[in-house]
Amino acid sequence: MTETLHHWAGGAVLTSASDRVGDVLDPATGKVSRRVALASESDVEQVVGAAVRAYPAWRDTSLSGRTPILFRFRELLNARADELAAIITAEHGKVASDAAGEVARGQEVVEFACGIPHLLKGSATENASTGIDVSSIRQPLGVVGIISPFNFPAMVPMWFFPLAIAAGNTVVLKPSEKVPSAAQWMAELWREAGLPDGVFNVLHGDAVAVDGLLTHPDVKSISFVGSTPIARHVYETGTAHGKRVQALGGAKNHAVVLPDADLDMAADQAVNAGFGSAGERCMAISAVVAVGSAGDVLVEKIAERARGLVTGDGRRGADMGPLVTAAARDRVSGYVDAGEAAGATLVVDGRDVKPDAEGEGFFVGPTLFDHVTSDMSIYTDEIFGPVLSVVRVDTYDEAVALINANPYGNGTAIFTNDGGAARRFQNEVEVGMIGINVPVPVPMAYYSFGGWKNSLFGDTHAHGTEGVHFFTRGKVVTTRWTDPARRGESAGLDLGFPRNG
Ligand code: NAD
Repeated sequence: MTETLHHWAGGAVLTSASDRVGDVLDPATGKVSRRVALASESDVEQVVGAAVRAYPAWRDTSLSGRTPILFRFRELLNARADELAAIITAEHGKVASDAAGEVARGQEVVEFACGIPHLLKGSATENASTGIDVSSIRQPLGVVGIISPFNFPAMVPMWFFPLAIAAGNTVVLKPSEKVPSAAQWMAELWREAGLPDGVFNVLHGDAVAVDGLLTHPDVKSISFVGSTPIARHVYETGTAHGKRVQALGGAKNHAVVLPDADLDMAADQAVNAGFGSAGERCMAISAVVAVGSAGDVLVEKIAERARGLVTGDGRRGADMGPLVTAAARDRVSGYVDAGEAAGATLVVDGRDVKPDAEGEGFFVGPTLFDHVTSDMSIYTDEIFGPVLSVVRVDTYDEAVALINANPYGNGTAIFTNDGGAARRFQNEVEVGMIGINVPVPVPMAYYSFGGWKNSLFGDTHAHGTEGVHFFTRGKVVTTRWTDPARRGESAGLDLGFPRNG
């Protein structure tokens, strides 16, 4: 019988009261590996309740009490990263090296959060007015909700929960129902690290679980990552219910290649950024904008490299794994059909790929289009698959205008050896994360991650100092203590407090 994964609340498995379940698939074989409970409203109550009960004690746990737990979590994650990476490959399909990379990027945020005593330091002003001091402190919010997408089962939750926990909040994580096991594994790791029961909880489910968190009066904030339509819904519903919300949405990332660029490097990077994780990355490059004479040589170099990639089961040493579901595969193949029908030049066709895998996995091979125009659906839509489109333009200005006209603004890159052009690009382009000869410019944990326009609703990016700010609220304290020598002069009211000394 196939095992069903239930929620995690108060430091233990909580069996769902709902009879709704989802299938969890192994995308490389197409087989159902386990089932996952899909929460009912009463499950939401129970899991949020566990976080509410744990909050007062965790909020009052000193920083010296919290930080050793974070360090232990880091050490355990370090020692057992391979286990987590294997879970990611088995449910998402990304190849082992990609899965290991994902864990490492999440771990950077854990390391950043280990420095929470420094990050939470407030400020103080002595003698702001005669005898008056002012100080500022930051305090936790309470129960915080995190809702994550399928494409980074470990890293995206780790963009948020290490800082949320370090700052004294308690957490309810609602992972994608397509890849639920990594969240459960991390919950057990927290318990092993000594985190008090109820500080980190996992609620499995779909829209019922999400809407339950968005409207729950005890949930004080929502950190969401997923597609743009759902991010917008989460932002609007969460804020309408009085919550602080950061909702990161979809993307359509461009890489501009100027004629003076190192075209071998640009081609290598376009292949990594376009086909890594089968294109299922919010920072994937999906449009290469070839300026002027760069186009012909670049397309030839990308095509040669794309044809050399091995597509297959991520556990067998393939370069690129499957898509997450049969529906995702069919959607991506449909876009390839549409691109061909619209008149783009199909240079490498991934629809007929022969994967190195057993069974009926959800594979589409690397696909490359040339002469794509901005009215084609392969350009306008987020495909979220291994399809790279080359758009040709004559000038740098046209390239920037194309990017700035796009409704998304997550990441972008420029390849050039001209420092002046790169400098102009970083200044002019309306995108949140910029790479200069770097195709996937994911910020380090001590900077903040987030896009512009339809790639982020709200004003706070993930992790870095913005993350600390998101998971805390500021308080300013204005204080007057009278000098003992001058106390007799004070003509203030006697409020009945005992006097010092
Ligand atoms: P998704 O929007 O389908 O799902 C994200 C989360 O929302 C999941 O937990 C899911 O259960 C929940 N959800 C789905 N439908 C819902 C509904 N109708 N009502 C309420 N909740 C709902 O996204 P996905 O397919 O899991 O992930 C891929 C998307 O995420 C892509 O668009 C990608 O660009 C985006 N993404 C963005 C970033 C970023 O940093 N901006 C990072 C990773 C992924």
